[in-house]
Amino acid sequence: MSDVTPSFDASAASTAYRSALSVIAEVEPRVADAIGAELADQRASLKLIASENYASPAVLLTMGNWLSDKYAEGTVGHRFYAGCQNVDTVEALAAEHARELFGAPYAYVQPHSGIDANLVAFWAVLAQRVESPALERAGVRHVNDLTDEDWATLRHALGDQRMLGMSLDAGGHLTHGFRPNISGKMFAQSSYGTDPGTGLLDYDLVAARAREFRPLILMAGYSAYPRKVDFATMREIADEVGATLIVDMSHFAGLVAGKVFSGDFDPVPHAHVVTSTSHKSLRGPRGGFVLAQPEYADAVDRGCPMVLGGPLPHVMAAKAVAFAEARRPLFATYAQAVVDNAVSLADGLSRRGARLVTGGTDNHIVLLDVSGYGLTGRQAESALLDAGIVTNRNAIPADPNGAWYTSGVRLGTPALTTRGFGAAEFDRTAELIVDVLSNTTPTATRDGSPSKAKYVVDGGLAEKTRAAASELVAAHPLYPGLEL
Ligand SMILES: *Cc1c(COP(=O)(O)O)cnc(C)c1O
Repeated sequence: MSDVTPSFDASAASTAYRSALSVIAEVEPRVADAIGAELADQRASLKLIASENYASPAVLLTMGNWLSDKYAEGTVGHRFYAGCQNVDTVEALAAEHARELFGAPYAYVQPHSGIDANLVAFWAVLAQRVESPALERAGVRHVNDLTDEDWATLRHALGDQRMLGMSLDAGGHLTHGFRPNISGKMFAQSSYGTDPGTGLLDYDLVAARAREFRPLILMAGYSAYPRKVDFATMREIADEVGATLIVDMSHFAGLVAGKVFSGDFDPVPHAHVVTSTSHKSLRGPRGGFVLAQPEYADAVDRGCPMVLGGPLPHVMAAKAVAFAEARRPLFATYAQAVVDNAVSLADGLSRRGARLVTGGTDNHIVLLDVSGYGLTGRQAESALLDAGIVTNRNAIPADPNGAWYTSGVRLGTPALTTRGFGAAEFDRTAELIVDVLSNTTPTATRDGSPSKAKYVVDGGLAEKTRAAASELVAAHPLYPGLEL
């Protein structure tokens, strides 16, 4: 792809994929066709989804093989199934690469996704910390020793356990104690938001909230906050109130791996437990992992079968390959380019009059407030999609349109940076976005008020922008030389 992306042998990869697709097509040609069509779609789209990326052919090819056929419950060298020597090799390699990459004392690479990584972490903290009063009332010493009867008591008692995390409209994540996720049932939740004036995290407010709420777990991390977070300060707050600090770096793991976030902004030395996905800015296979300080390692190791199904050996192998890629100097160059590009995109939008939450970015995310164009996030997202620009709508702090329609659009640079986009391409992207949004109008509903969902884009502009977007992506081909 570009000079921030691992190169690969295009003719070998083309042969591998052509052969694989022909073997698949013998059984179900429509699946083979869909796989081929997905490559074409990915290649053609101007993808600004902040949580997506493009994994390397090496990572992708590592997932399609017989490692997938092994059951391997347990941990390396301690399995409940025979014949796990090769799974042991790949899991140990993935964990070793993760420890080295992030400078962590311990890594657990079995979680199947970011949500699973959080569940493993939550149960580890409960197992480690909740000796009492909840467990004493349940009459046991350890979560792992509970009988069915204990569970009944504990379900009640666990209601006493508290989690403090970033509010959803400030950019927090559902798994940080919110209702639609089990974390919202396991814990009594309270949130910290951002400063209404600046949109920035106010650590004094987080500390005040923590003193008042006394959480067992202080969560940090986000999926839509466009700024870095001072984890050293978050740890001080956690220590002051006796909380365990979990940092969910799902979104920005690539920026940690690439050392863009260092010192106080690197979560690994400051958090008790760090959770993550492997497929967002980190550019690995779909999956999750947990890093932990030694005192939490044993409890994290019990992730399977406590909350996880059997490990996915083929995906752990792909994590090992992705972590190995991320340990190369090239990845640090990539991570820095992701942030530089986000700044270019933010500048390009601001200069053309767009309003950004917090006024800019220092990570891979730009959160655009579209209310100034008279649009909801939903209308903006749809109009941009008509114009060939793929984004997603997102709530902004104190969003008057709620979580469904929203007033924001979240933009991210990891994927297009992998394709080789630089400052000029992101400035052009900003120009296209502002052009579309300035020329989109809500349709009037029957009573004359503006619709929150329907809209019109000025005649011909969507088509014209689609052509311009195609031109931009065509200049930076995805998987160059790969032909099916
Ligand atoms: C994406 C994300 C998750 C969930 O990851 P999945 O792999 O989709 O389960 C969890 N936490 C945060 C902060 C995220 O951004």
